[in-house]
Amino acid sequence: MRGVTFKGNREAEIQEFPDPHAGPGDAVLRVRASGLCGSDLHRYRAGDPTVMITGHEPCGVIEELGPGAPPGLNLGDRVMCHHYAGCGVCRNCAMGYEQLCPQGRVTYGGGTGHGANADFILVPSRSLVHLPDELSFEEGAAISCGTGTAWNGLSKMDISGKDTVAVFGQGPVGLSGTLSAKAMGARVIAVDVVPERLELARDLGAEYVINPLETDPVEAIRDLTGGAGATASLETSGNPTARQQVLTCLAPFGRCCYVGVGAPAEIDFSRDVIFKVITIYGSWTFSKSELIEIADFFVQTGAPLSRHITHRYTLDQAVEAFQTFDGATTGKCVFLFD
Ligand SMILES: [Zn+2]
Ligand SMILES: [Zn+2]
Repeated sequence: MRGVTFKGNREAEIQEFPDPHAGPGDAVLRVRASGLCGSDLHRYRAGDPTVMITGHEPCGVIEELGPGAPPGLNLGDRVMCHHYAGCGVCRNCAMGYEQLCPQGRVTYGGGTGHGANADFILVPSRSLVHLPDELSFEEGAAISCGTGTAWNGLSKMDISGKDTVAVFGQGPVGLSGTLSAKAMGARVIAVDVVPERLELARDLGAEYVINPLETDPVEAIRDLTGGAGATASLETSGNPTARQQVLTCLAPFGRCCYVGVGAPAEIDFSRDVIFKVITIYGSWTFSKSELIEIADFFVQTGAPLSRHITHRYTLDQAVEAFQTFDGATTGKCVFLFD
């Protein structure tokens, strides 16, 4: 089968790998869609090559099931994958947060296990959840990391129609934050330095867009909220300045959630957290049961998830796909398979 690896220094490569087969407790998926996620770019840009196949947003159909699979799974089922494996039995794993297993974890497509930028992927059968019929494979792939991450950050803050949410960063995760917050009933202020991404944000429902290269975002957010500030904010960029601004843009009693991975930032906790009575959340993707909840949300709300997907590629176009995604002007990019 084909599988995409990184050679280091911004070079993707399609290599041949043996087809995987399911041993006890395993499943093989025939990949139907695999998403490109912002965190892939950290390894794409790094100097070292990847040994494992990339792609941590798998979505497809079950091709093979090894002995011991849960009875609710059948060959041909449409599934998403909670793309981690911990020990499977500790408290965190039992909660469905296998990424937080104290014994360590395998991340499929994240460097320690083969990923979904391939014709097939081998994963533990317990990592699979059904993809609702109403959702396409590409939507399932997006939910499996990027969109789910944004949604879960907003969910932790209990976003509703009472909120004005500032979403910092309008890459695939931030755009998902914009369309999800909108579907939760909030008013959205989208912040990004890339005009194309701000345009997408507006198309996905942002009431206001702010480019920090043109306007101070904190002042702009205060102006747009009658001087009060946003009631909630979501940080998806990982940028140190944005990591400060998601706090300074908040009204008293505001909530903020960090999901963007990036460089350390200096926070004035007295001024920006204590004396404004702010609640700060951190969120790292989602649990397996939250993955089901997120898919249900998009079925029930019909939020325009597919509209944030701007580029679709075949696996043979992997080199071009990563070059384009690395340019940081696109919405979501996905590989689709026939
Ligand atoms: Zn564990
Ligand atoms: Zn990701």
